[in-house]
Amino acid sequence: YFITFEGPDGSGKTTISTEVQKRLTAAGYDAIYTREPGGIDIAEQIRRVILDPKNVNMDAKTEALLYAASRRQHLIEKVLPALEKGQIVICDRFIDSSLAYQGYARGLGIEEVFRINEFAIEGHFPDATVYLNLAYEEGLKRIETRAFKDRLDLETTNFHKLVSKGYEEVLKKYKHRMKIVDASQDIEHVLNDSMNYVLELIKN
Ligand code: C5P
Ligand code: MG
Repeated sequence: YFITFEGPDGSGKTTISTEVQKRLTAAGYDAIYTREPGGIDIAEQIRRVILDPKNVNMDAKTEALLYAASRRQHLIEKVLPALEKGQIVICDRFIDSSLAYQGYARGLGIEEVFRINEFAIEGHFPDATVYLNLAYEEGLKRIETRAFKDRLDLETTNFHKLVSKGYEEVLKKYKHRMKIVDASQDIEHVLNDSMNYVLELIKN
């Protein structure tokens, strides 16, 4: 199974998805955690280029193409081989992030960004996506203390508001695979709700 975690910045994707992978492993499942953009060497290199504060004026289409390139390499090198071995892949962000951030928030259009990603992923959509639902203001408050604050200062609050609206569109588009979790709850509850969705999927 290929399971992705999505949600606005500060919604807890990394914390929850790494913890879900640990719990699955403890329960005897063969599960790996990986993240986007990155997860393998080439993709981590691309991630550094995209997130380098020096490149803050990167053209939006260039950025979208780099995310798609990073996604493809990560899919080919890591996700697909793991799925072929029968492992459960827990992935921190995937195509929906590009649709919300580059497609909607950066204004490229969800359909346009979908097309370059379609080329990149060749039909390998997630089986399910856990969406950590949190007001963007709340998410921003949570990450104020994080190390990459510099980067966030460069982006406006308005951008994150648009990201949330973008995700709303994505949730409508892919209703069938979306599992919405209330990420404003304390971490134990968010984790339990996420685990329940994942177990429901893999037990069927
Ligand atoms: O995954 P993570 O939250 O670490 O992402 C790092 C940064 O990349 C965040 O600031 C996020 O807003 C940004 N990002 C983006 N477009 C994507 C994925 C992530 O702008 N498609
Ligand atoms: Mg994260």
